[in-house]
Amino acid sequence: MVVKELNRGKCKTYLVGCETTRNATLIDPLREHIDRYLALLAYHGYRLAIVIDTHTHADHRTASFDLHELTGAEVVMHREAPAPRVERHVTDGDTLFLGELALEILATPGHTPDSMCIHVDGRVFTGDTLLIRGTGRADFAGGDAGAQYDSITRKLFTLPDATIVLPAHDYRGNTESTIGEEKRLNPRLVGKSRADYVHLMENLGLPLPTQIQEVLQPNQSAIDDDVLKFPTLAQLNEVRQLAPQEVQALGTGTAGLVILDVRELDEYVGKLGHIPGSQLVPLRELARRADELAPLKQRKVVAVCRSGVRSSTAAAILTSMGFEQIFNMKGGMLAWNDAGLPVERLGSSPELPVIPANAGIQAQTALGTAGSPLARG
Ligand code: FE
Repeated sequence: MVVKELNRGKCKTYLVGCETTRNATLIDPLREHIDRYLALLAYHGYRLAIVIDTHTHADHRTASFDLHELTGAEVVMHREAPAPRVERHVTDGDTLFLGELALEILATPGHTPDSMCIHVDGRVFTGDTLLIRGTGRADFAGGDAGAQYDSITRKLFTLPDATIVLPAHDYRGNTESTIGEEKRLNPRLVGKSRADYVHLMENLGLPLPTQIQEVLQPNQSAIDDDVLKFPTLAQLNEVRQLAPQEVQALGTGTAGLVILDVRELDEYVGKLGHIPGSQLVPLRELARRADELAPLKQRKVVAVCRSGVRSSTAAAILTSMGFEQIFNMKGGMLAWNDAGLPVERLGSSPELPVIPANAGIQAQTALGTAGSPLARG
């Protein structure tokens, strides 16, 4: 196994390669270094088989989606990751095979809900869950300090003490540590109860990363154009939330809610399915299709996506467009499925009608649930 840190900066990207098969992965690649990664892979004769983001990053743009386009490498993220265009979602205990290497996935929520670590051959890539003598902050983007404490102490600290720790960030020039060292020396954890840790993390008083919205929302949505203007943090915080059960109780159709699914078409017809009667307007088309959506302005509208993140963005945008009763469905289709609520699934057969950009939302609304051509599929 070959392991190389490629950025030589505070933000770390690792190349992991199987020397026998010449298959490689990049863990947490940065968008500004794509050329360098591709040159390095070519020079050493590695094929980029997979790219992995240990979580949705708030401090740099991911290179994963571009690397997929350029090389065909499969993008791998945790099941909770909000973005579309992730080819493979993984959960705790899954194994990714990279040539002769077996990469074990450890779900470690806390820094973000989709944080995970990768354990392979005596090393653990800890993302921003566990840093060298530190831990990733847990005060934005769905962070949860208590969950992070559990992830570190109950999961990472059960690995052998000699396991080498390779984090996604380091601000002091460190390159590696071990699980044993972090158990003994990490000042955020030594002698700290869960409550102590939560108190500590809630009182760090750190400013938000610069340009967080310019980075986080494009990473969450895999959207990179100037057409969509992302809302501010304040606008996002004002979005009203409904649990999947509350959405179900209010009902859909002419008398009830309008369910606006803002995922991509392949997700709408994919594994998680969609809510019967929901209407598809991908987030990336929202601004362009403003006129078509106008008749819904006085209706109660619930925005829905995979995990409830992109739909929050959509809800904030719709509020700024004059929608009066817009809600976000918390937890998205992941939570809807987990709650066992009714789901409609369509096969992605070639006969599936592609929804034209000017498809009659108005007409679908008037006809209610049964009137949606997609809903009947
Ligand atoms: Fe992070």
